Amino acid sequence: MRKNNLKPLSLSSREWVLSEETFKKSKIQVNESLFMLGNGYLNLRGSLEENTKNSYRGMYLAGVFNQSESDVEELVKCPVWTDLSIWLEDEKFDVSTQKVLAHSQKLDLKKGILHRKARIKNSRGKIITLETKKAVFMHNVHYGYMQISIKPENFSGELKVFSGLNGDVYNKGFYPAEKIKHLNLVKIERAKEYKYLEMVTRDKKINIALGSYFDVCNPKLVYKKRNRIYGEKFTTEIIFEAHKKEKYAFENFAVIYTSREINHNEIHRKTMEELKNYVRKGVDVQLNQHIAAWKAKWQKADIKIIGDTLAQKGIRYNIYQLIINGNPLAATGIGAKFLSNEGYKGHSFWDTEIFILPFYMFTFPEIAKNLLMYRFHTLNGALENAKNLGLKGAKYAWESASTGLECTPPFAVNFDGTYIPIKTGEQEDHIVSDIVYTLYKFYLVTGDEGFIKNYGLEIIYQTARYWASRVTKVNDKYEIHEVIGPDEFHESVNNNYFTNYLVKWHLGIAVKLFSYIKKKDHNLIKVLFAQLKLDPHEINNWKKIADNIKLPATPENQIIEQFDGYFELKNIKAGKRDRFGQPVLPVGTNYKNIASTQLIKQADIVLLMWMFPNAFSKETKKKNYHYYEERTMYKSSLSHCAYALMGLEIGSRVHAYHFFMKSLLVDINDIHKNTKDGIHAASVGGSWQTAVQGFGGLRIKSGRLAFKPWLPRKWQGLVYSVIWKGRTINIELTHKTIKIFIHGAKDKFINVDIYDKTYKINTNKSVTYKY
Ligand code: BGC
Repeated sequence: MRKNNLKPLSLSSREWVLSEETFKKSKIQVNESLFMLGNGYLNLRGSLEENTKNSYRGMYLAGVFNQSESDVEELVKCPVWTDLSIWLEDEKFDVSTQKVLAHSQKLDLKKGILHRKARIKNSRGKIITLETKKAVFMHNVHYGYMQISIKPENFSGELKVFSGLNGDVYNKGFYPAEKIKHLNLVKIERAKEYKYLEMVTRDKKINIALGSYFDVCNPKLVYKKRNRIYGEKFTTEIIFEAHKKEKYAFENFAVIYTSREINHNEIHRKTMEELKNYVRKGVDVQLNQHIAAWKAKWQKADIKIIGDTLAQKGIRYNIYQLIINGNPLAATGIGAKFLSNEGYKGHSFWDTEIFILPFYMFTFPEIAKNLLMYRFHTLNGALENAKNLGLKGAKYAWESASTGLECTPPFAVNFDGTYIPIKTGEQEDHIVSDIVYTLYKFYLVTGDEGFIKNYGLEIIYQTARYWASRVTKVNDKYEIHEVIGPDEFHESVNNNYFTNYLVKWHLGIAVKLFSYIKKKDHNLIKVLFAQLKLDPHEINNWKKIADNIKLPATPENQIIEQFDGYFELKNIKAGKRDRFGQPVLPVGTNYKNIASTQLIKQADIVLLMWMFPNAFSKETKKKNYHYYEERTMYKSSLSHCAYALMGLEIGSRVHAYHFFMKSLLVDINDIHKNTKDGIHAASVGGSWQTAVQGFGGLRIKSGRLAFKPWLPRKWQGLVYSVIWKGRTINIELTHKTIKIFIHGAKDKFINVDIYDKTYKINTNKSVTYKY
């Protein structure tokens, strides 16, 4: 295939583009995370093609986990198809080792295309301009595409362009310089322009097939082509006489499948057949469909913040991340770093349910359902986890990979760089009820009763059963001992308020749903009772525990004790702030003695008050917000959004905006200094919640949709859409008004609360209210 012109891929307007206009060696890995492309099935780090020094490039496929010699299962770094290097004589043009005259990376958030432009001067003074444009398609998640153009600026001479498929990839090990090999080679094949590489994961035997086609686009160019295989690496080399100031264009097409979608006997044939078709038809149709698919996504998910350019850019970037990480095809989990790197080994935490899932629930409910189905499919693992501890029912893993078995590694690196054992896998049990909390919310938002009946009840009952065997009876109260709450600085505590409160709610909802279904669908109860070997005594016992779980009454000063004995700890507040506004450890405190203080890692009680806003008085919320905020070290990125949301709730609005911006820019500004390890997925989800549920005021009140908006002074407006029980609702806010349009056939209505009033709002008609 030889064409004259590459399809021009124009950049969207500035407010849709995340750009980096310089090249800094120190930012190589941070930018690889930031400029990630993806579609929720496969995500690709935004690496520079020449495989620069210090690069940590990689492609990750949702749900592809393996253990090999690692302590626990981890997300597998998959072979890459985007390596490309340009050689003049014996020197590779490389921004990390040569002079960079100009450099930019621009991520078009609207179209999901990454643009790069580099002017590089080698040691002999020869300059090239390199331009690349890359995408992984949104409408067809198995396809990738890259356009390349090269222009020698001040020389003519023989250029070599190498493009390869690279299966020589490893995951990072636990210790520095350790590597874990997860993949074995199955097959390498080279035809003239077509390449094929198939690898298989070592334990789970998932085949990963990559087909690619790399060719020249200039029709008249005379060139030589050579293929080479270096072990698991495979390159095509194109060698030609380049002329000064002329542009040379190339294209790279890729098709990626795994044996989860196609039987491994068929995978080679199918991948190559599709690749050939794709190449034959050219990329134009695919690109148009890709851009149209992105347009459709943005139509549902966009948020407009009028009057605040930085917040607008930030929220679009956060939504972009949420869009490229929602798997439309399968029930896979979402990792704490999305699919952007190996931080937290790709494992799913409570981050998914409490922080990330609300976005999908209100915007792409089918993806929210996939995420909850992942929990359903891992229920067996959860049952096993409980059994391994001598307990009953299902204990969801604090860190979950492909099976739901506990995957928390035994050791981790602490903030001071020392290796410490981690107890979260055994003790951070609140995840069990976090999942149920969100599952129930999903039901309220979507009205999907089928989901609750077919899958939800089993999860709710098996996890309720876990709590019944986990609690300890002390006199006439039920206590939960040896837990870790959201604040992980304090381990092995008794009666963490957050956990106990959530368990009370969880058991209460299990009982309530039982009574509800018994009335409506007695047959279903019979089936469930038989299947889960449940009986009414067990349900009564849950009620007894819910009614008697230890939850100390709110004291006179209204500050709720985070766990038994917390107030007896050294009462110190977080220290001064660094230049990013992050608290520094007070003098005399370090990560070895921090547990003896009242300093907390992240929002705990305050987050609970956000999750149950109607259960605490405004005064109690206010007092606890201030008390705990002053003691929060913000060592988890999950805190900023919690304090933003709660700040709005208690009327501390300036604070709310400040925390919102931190949450929004956590990665763009690398606030936690670890964006290189991946994107902070929970913070991304929390930023969306703050925009929509905080400033946008969206709430659920007694099962009804409710709004309590408030806009920061500099915002002139906020526009967003949500899906409520199958209907799309557009909301437009100013400081004084709320305009609502509920899609649907005429003459239907729904009841909506705006602050303290309830309105009957007709569908298909735009209405505006003052608030
Ligand atoms: C936080 C947890 C979180 C995990 C993954 C930890 O640092 O304390 O709350 O689930 O990171 O994001």
